[in-house]
Amino acid sequence: MKNHDEEWVSGKFILEILKSFGEDADWILSLFKKNSIPEIKDNKEYSISFCVRLIEIIKKYSGTNSVFKLGIETSKLYKVHSDYNKFISPHDIFPFLDYLYQMNVKTSEKRNYYFYEKKSDTQLLFRSGTPFQCEFEKGFLLGLFNYYFGVPFKNIEIEHLPVLACRNFGNLYCSYIISWK
Ligand SMILES: [Zn+2]
Repeated sequence: MKNHDEEWVSGKFILEILKSFGEDADWILSLFKKNSIPEIKDNKEYSISFCVRLIEIIKKYSGTNSVFKLGIETSKLYKVHSDYNKFISPHDIFPFLDYLYQMNVKTSEKRNYYFYEKKSDTQLLFRSGTPFQCEFEKGFLLGLFNYYFGVPFKNIEIEHLPVLACRNFGNLYCSYIISWK
């Protein structure tokens, strides 16, 4: 297993994502405090293991819908290649996801977390082995489709294959069939 302490994001990035929760942001910060998480500072870097722990706290106290929303908000703040307006269909961005991961997360070595296969013009197979929770990543994927390609949320379907072989249950990766219209 990879050591996810060797991947970092800035405190600024974490705080920006939390801010997107509006009035709930203070409440989330108080949850972190209650769980002995040190105060998150703008100018400090935090490991991905630390971020996964933060998401776990949100999941425990606020449920999976909040984790889902956290994923959606993260996708909006994700640094995407400046050429992203050349990405016309979601099929154009999926082959670059490992590259984009490294634009957003500092890693000690190149990561190879994603597998993607085009099934049809509006369907793809996607596998992810990032350290993140499944609900978080599903939200992230929805946000990607919605924010960058204008696909309405109701027109995106993410089917988990199979249900139990999931990172939430100790599997190393999650596989999805994603369809949209
Ligand atoms: Zn999963």
